[in-house]
Amino acid sequence: MDFPRHLLEIEALTRAQIELLLSLAGRFKRERTAARAAVTSGSEPAVDRRGLLRGRTVVTLFFEPSTRTRASFEVAARALGADVLSFQKDASSVIKGESLEDTVRNLDAIGADVLVLRHPAAGAHRLVARAVKASVINGGDGAHEHPTQALLDALSLRESLGTLEGKVVSIVGDIAHSRVARSNIHCLSKLGARVRVGGPSTVIPLGIEKLGCTVVRSLKEALEGADAVMALRIQSERISDARLPSARDYARTWGLNSRTLSLLPKEAVILHPGPVNRGVEMSNDVLESPRSLVMDQVGSGVAVRMAALALCLRAEVAP
Ligand code: ASP
Repeated sequence: MDFPRHLLEIEALTRAQIELLLSLAGRFKRERTAARAAVTSGSEPAVDRRGLLRGRTVVTLFFEPSTRTRASFEVAARALGADVLSFQKDASSVIKGESLEDTVRNLDAIGADVLVLRHPAAGAHRLVARAVKASVINGGDGAHEHPTQALLDALSLRESLGTLEGKVVSIVGDIAHSRVARSNIHCLSKLGARVRVGGPSTVIPLGIEKLGCTVVRSLKEALEGADAVMALRIQSERISDARLPSARDYARTWGLNSRTLSLLPKEAVILHPGPVNRGVEMSNDVLESPRSLVMDQVGSGVAVRMAALALCLRAEVAP
C-alpha cells in the first residue's frame, strides 16, 4: 500500500495517494451512514470496523482550540477500535515549561501509535515526526497546512459534483492566514480542479498563483461560472495589524448572502470549514440553504480521519 506513515502536508502527497484515501473514506462514510440508520432502527450494523485498530493508541495533541477536528479524530479512532488519549495542554507539563519535543517523546514512550498534532507554529509537525516513532498526522500547523480539512472538502465536493476534474472551485476570504486555503489549493489542483482565490487585497499573498490557482479581484469574478465556492473564516487570532476592513465592510464586499449568491450558477455548492462567523463570511440563509455542504463536510471529516488513521497505521481493510 503506497501511503506515507505520516500525514503531514497535502503538498507532499501524490494524486494517487489522495485518491486512495478518498476512496477508503467514501466507503467508511457510506458504512457509517448505514450503521447509524441500523442503530436507530434497532438492528445490528452490517459492518463493524472496531477490529481495525484494536490495541492501538491515538493521542490528540492540540495546542490551539478545535471543535470539529479534535472531536472527529477521536470519534474516528474509536470507530476503528483504537484507544484515545486526549492530551490537555493546560493540564500538562507544558505549563511547567516542558518543550514540544520532550512532550512528544514522552507520549511516544507511553505507547502512542499516532500523534494528531495541532500547533500554532508552521512546521511543528515536521519536528515532531522526526522526534517520535509514532505516526504523526498534522491537524493544522499555523497558517501553513490542514491536510485532513482539504481531504474532507474534496470528499464532500466529489460526492456532490461527481468529479473534480475540470471543475471551478473559488476560495474566498482570508487566504493569507488560512491553512485551509493552502491545503485546498494543493488538493483541488492535484485532483484536476481549477482553483480561484479571492479576498481583500491585503490578505492575498503575493505569488500565491505559484501554488496552482488564479487570483480574482471581486466576489463577482469568484462566483461567475464556479461549480463551488468555499468561504473562509477571518483568522482574527493570526492578524496582528489592521489588515482587514470592518466585519460589516467585509460582509458587504466578500460575504455570501442571497443577493451576492444570485451571481453563482444555480447548481453550484457552498462550503465553509467552520467555525462560521454568521453574517460575516455568509448569512444564515446561505449557511442553511440546500446548496450548503457545511454539515456534510463535518460528516466527511470523520470518514476522512478514519481513512487517514487506517492508512498511516497500515491497517488491512478487507474488500
Ligand atoms: N477549523 C479550521 C482550522 O482550524 C478553519 C478555521 O479555524 O477557520 O484551520
